[in-house]
Amino acid sequence: MIPTHTASLRDKVGHLRSLFLARLPGMLEEARLACLCLSGGKAAETAIDDLQRLFHNLKGTAATLGLPELSAESSSATELVAGWRLMPVAMRSEVLPSWQRKLANSIARLAVLECQASAALPPPQGAAAPDLPRSARDKKPDLRLKRVYLCDAELDGRQLESPLLCFGYTLTSFCDTASLLRAAAAECPDAIVVQASMATGLAGYENRSDTPLLIVGDDGDFATRLAAVKAGAVAYFQKPIAGHELVEALDMATTQLEPAPYRVLIVDDEPEMADYHASILESVGMSARRLNEPARILEELDEFQPDLLLMDVYMPIASGRELSRVVRQIPQFVGLPILFLSSETDKMEQVSALQVGADGFLTKPIPPQDLITAVAVRAERTRVLRSLMMRDSLTGLLNHTTLSQFLETSLAAAQRQGVPLCFMMLDVDRFKVVNDTYGHQAGDQVLMALARVLKQRLRNSDMIGRYGGEEFAAVLQGVGVSEAVRFVDAIREDFAALTFKAGDKRFSCSFSCGIAGFPDYETAEGLVYAADQALYAAKRGGRNRVIADAAADAIAGEKQ
Ligand code: GH3
Ligand code: MG
Ligand code: MG
Repeated sequence: MIPTHTASLRDKVGHLRSLFLARLPGMLEEARLACLCLSGGKAAETAIDDLQRLFHNLKGTAATLGLPELSAESSSATELVAGWRLMPVAMRSEVLPSWQRKLANSIARLAVLECQASAALPPPQGAAAPDLPRSARDKKPDLRLKRVYLCDAELDGRQLESPLLCFGYTLTSFCDTASLLRAAAAECPDAIVVQASMATGLAGYENRSDTPLLIVGDDGDFATRLAAVKAGAVAYFQKPIAGHELVEALDMATTQLEPAPYRVLIVDDEPEMADYHASILESVGMSARRLNEPARILEELDEFQPDLLLMDVYMPIASGRELSRVVRQIPQFVGLPILFLSSETDKMEQVSALQVGADGFLTKPIPPQDLITAVAVRAERTRVLRSLMMRDSLTGLLNHTTLSQFLETSLAAAQRQGVPLCFMMLDVDRFKVVNDTYGHQAGDQVLMALARVLKQRLRNSDMIGRYGGEEFAAVLQGVGVSEAVRFVDAIREDFAALTFKAGDKRFSCSFSCGIAGFPDYETAEGLVYAADQALYAAKRGGRNRVIADAAADAIAGEKQ
């Protein structure tokens, strides 16, 4: 978080200030022309609207970019225009010449202030605007295998090795805690798993290290579990332990989930303002998109899927208020927080802006930390609500509706960008038998494990959903059908190799999968139907297999 302007943000403000000053003469010329069109009729109405917006924007931008005299003069010009608006129409022609003179004087003073401010600018550095600090989202994902040290005289580590490897963990076994501690001192593991009776050998270790400790034992009684907690364990398992249970606990203990950055769409007709506020949000790792043409808001909302909309109030074509109304009329965006950011200080105006469904009104110029806090608090709330609405509670994957919406939007994006896309449908084989034989709870474990395998093995950009019961689906972006088949087939093999546990019985499961792709199919319905048909073919063909849809097969056949 940045309490005030950081050095890099200061540089950025300096750059934006020079861009703004370079644009100012053109804006003042526009104001002079509008001033000449005030003698009556429709043109006069448009001209007065333009003048009001122009001076209002100048006032806010100049204040934000550290040009207080320019802001104060723009404020006087705004008041002049407001006074004209309030004047009875009958009186206007009489006072027009003197009023035009006053406004022309104000514009001339603004021009002088612009010259002075431009002269005071530091000489250009030659380089483009300096970069803001690299944000958290620039970090590369951690793809290395995580190291687990196991110390259990009774447990055969080799049995656990393969399920652990499948989920990205390597296992090293030790016969006693002393040798485990020596190894840990040389190379720190990501987690330690130790037999309950040997845990005393690690006494005090948790005080010296952040490495999570997991304990396994024969008993499941309260005293044993309490002893494990007192020994500093983050999890306790009663034997026999199932690989996927251990993986689940290891995932929880070792993954520090870095939330995806908040996405903020900034609508402001003034590019420097949009850029300035975007820079503040980006400096703390948020992802901000600038939109200077309000007319493109629907496309941007669809494509960028922001967590929050930050809007200027006075803009040409559509005001912030009108834009809010448009956005709120679309059911998908009813819950999207909208914040107005304007130099409007009139409380009544602010209240009326809030009445159209905005969530808050921020006044320009706003201290960076206040903007960050206002945005973060609301964006987080949207995240939580959206996650509750979009996700399936058992697996944490997207629900059917959300995945279907995502398929539509990503298909449109793939068409625009001319990149391939795949849709896959996946169904657990003979799942009814699993439920009937081992119980519904064991069935649920299988679904959770499959969800986890898919989440871990597919990329962040691939959206995975629980399509219904024991059916899953995913949208794989930028991937052709044959590549997707190879990729999912490897997941299929690993999943089929997992062993599940129900009481003292062990079993394994498999899945069948059908995959269809764009550009073979150009509509979401076409893709879903083709993937479903391919899944059906996989079932008919004996299950535990991944099948590309017939069109992809035919095309692949032609190529050969
Ligand atoms: P196939 O290989 O042809 O797909 O056979 P199947 O037995 O998997 O297919 P079927 O559609 O006959 O059975 C699906 C079963 O999945 C029936 C239903 O009770 C079970 N199921 C659906 N949702 C859940 C769930 O959330 N938890 C559990 N445990 N079972 C579920
Ligand atoms: Mg099934
Ligand atoms: Mg089914």
